[in-house]
Parts: sequence; C-alpha cells; structure tokens
Amino acid sequence: MIIDLRSDTVTKPSPGMKEAMMNAPVGDDVFKEDPTVNELEVYAATLFGKEAALFCPSGTMTNQIAINVHTRPGDELIADVNAHIYNYEGGGISKNSGVQARLLAGDRGRLSLGQVEQAVQGDYDWLCRTSLVCLENTVNRAGGSVYDLNTMQAISVFCRDKQLAFHLDGARIFNAIQVAGYTPLAIGYLFDSISVCLSKGLGAPVGSLLLGTSDFIKQARRVRKVMGGGMRQAGILAAAGLYALKNNVERLKEDHKRSAFLGDTLQGCSWVKQVMPVETNIVIFELQPQVNSLHLEQELAANGIRVAGFGKQTIRMVTHLDIDDAMITKTAEVLTQLKVS
Ligand SMILES: *Cc1c(COP(=O)(O)O)cnc(C)c1O
Repeated sequence: MIIDLRSDTVTKPSPGMKEAMMNAPVGDDVFKEDPTVNELEVYAATLFGKEAALFCPSGTMTNQIAINVHTRPGDELIADVNAHIYNYEGGGISKNSGVQARLLAGDRGRLSLGQVEQAVQGDYDWLCRTSLVCLENTVNRAGGSVYDLNTMQAISVFCRDKQLAFHLDGARIFNAIQVAGYTPLAIGYLFDSISVCLSKGLGAPVGSLLLGTSDFIKQARRVRKVMGGGMRQAGILAAAGLYALKNNVERLKEDHKRSAFLGDTLQGCSWVKQVMPVETNIVIFELQPQVNSLHLEQELAANGIRVAGFGKQTIRMVTHLDIDDAMITKTAEVLTQLKVS
C-alpha cells in the first residue's frame, strides 16, 4: 500500500466519476458546443453568483488569464510573498503579461487591509501603476491557512473604491469554505475574478474554472485560446468537474480531520522542530536542524509513505480523497516509531 501524501493533486477518478465521464454528452468547446462544459460553467458561475465561467486545463492557466485580462504591460500587482501566482507559475506574471509583483509579508500568507493600502502606488509618472490585488485562499505555501470573511470584505471595498481589480486564487476555496463557514455566494460577491481548482481536493483528474462577469470571461476566452487552452470535446473532463462539485465538497471535512490528527502526531515527534497550525488539508512542518530531510523522506518512502520536500528542512503532507483512516493510522504509527538521528 502506497500512502501518497505529497499533494491533493494525486487523486484518481472514482468509479462514479469515471461513469459520469463515459456518459457525458460532448461537442466542440471552441465553438461553445460542448453541452457538458457549458453545464459546468453555468453551474459554477451560479454557485458563486458570478455571471459567467470558463473551463481551463489548469489553475495556473486560470490565474494567468485573470492577471492578463486585469492588467497592462508595465503594471504592478500586489500579492503575498507565498503566492502561488508568483512562486509556482514559472514566472508567468512577467512572461505572459509583462507585469511585476509587489510582494508583501502577510500573516501566514494572508494580507491585511492596512498592508494593501500601503502598497498601492501613488499616481506619479515615475511609479508603477498598481492595477490588481491577488489573494490566495487557502494559502498553499503557508500551510493551508484560511482568510476570514471580514478581511476579504475590507480589501474588496478598498479595491472597488480605488478601482483596482481583485482576484482570488481559490485553488482550495472549498477547503476554506468548509472551515470558515462562509458561502460561495459571499465569496463571489467580493472578487472580480475567482480561480477554482477541480483537480485538488475535489478529486477531478484535470481542470480549473475562472469566474467573473460576462465581459471579463469574454476577454478571458480569447486569452485562453492564445495560451493554447481552447479544448475540443472537453465535456469528458468537465463531467468529472461537475461530479466533483456535486459529490466531493462536503467530504473535505474528513480530509481536515485527518490532517489535524497528523499535525498532532508530528507535534509529539522529537525530531520535529515546528508544525505550522493545521487549518485545512495541508500539514507543513520543519525538522530539527540536525535531521537530514532527504534521509527522512527516504525512510518514510521505505515504509510506503510519500511526502513532499518543501524547501530546506521543511516537509509538506496533504490529505485528500484517496487517503483513508487506515492510511492515517499507519502513517501516525510510522512517524511515531521512526528512528531519526
Ligand atoms: C495547485 C494550485 C494552483 C494551480 O495549479 P495547477 O497545477 O496549474 O492546476 C494555483 N494556486 C494554488 C494555491 C495551488 O495550490
């Protein structure tokens, strides 16, 4: 038995999901003729109270399209230093859109209104034009931390007042929703655009959605084509996404319970220096300085447990749809009994 805790992207489609994919009516989505893609886009847009949605191959693409539509070359966007859009999208902010990033050190990846207010550039010829503020919820690189509604609301009001575009990288927004108790509608109201991943905790094999106004999505569709993301009989994939949204949202709570248990177990391990607070399905922990992290990863792998190195002396474990209680019990046993020098 392999216990793959590297990422929530490693899930395989369930029998029910595969059946939905097999039976999906399809058409050419570049011609807007795929009924299943159209259904998914309407379903997701309605859920978040947005006018329209766009189905894309990845969350990198939905984020990068949003940045491209909201900005002009030479502009600046504001994000936290941990942001996925900055760290893990291959330099796409500058490469795709000619935009630079003003990175702020938030509270475990979460920006405050005060920080955003201070970072917006004044209207002088020699300063960069700030045009976009990006939040991430949950924050992957900060251990799956969750924004509270008030903070997002305050920044939203500020952005509207200053005519700044406001984008949410909501790759794991449903994890946040399960924990914080706000609704997709409440989130949808605050942002100009939202990216939602179907291929993380929701368990679809491929796909992300970009949500926004009809006019925004019209522009986004054009950028998606330019980036090579116009897909044809994509309904086969969209069917998996629809199945995921209808069946796999509530159960994220189970993932959160399991990761909390892993976090508690790690707290009790002498070779662990620090565990980041576990809020959702991500557990990030730092090893004591004398521990060889590569060694530790190999030791866990020898026991059938796969984890992700996440920088020097730091390791990430993520719970997901294909991790059950028995796997967590086994992992906890191995962690507790591990001989680490
Ligand atoms: C996974 C992820 C994305 C999108 O990644 P893709 O692999 O391109 O789908 C975007 N933002 C965050 C925070 C993520 O964790």
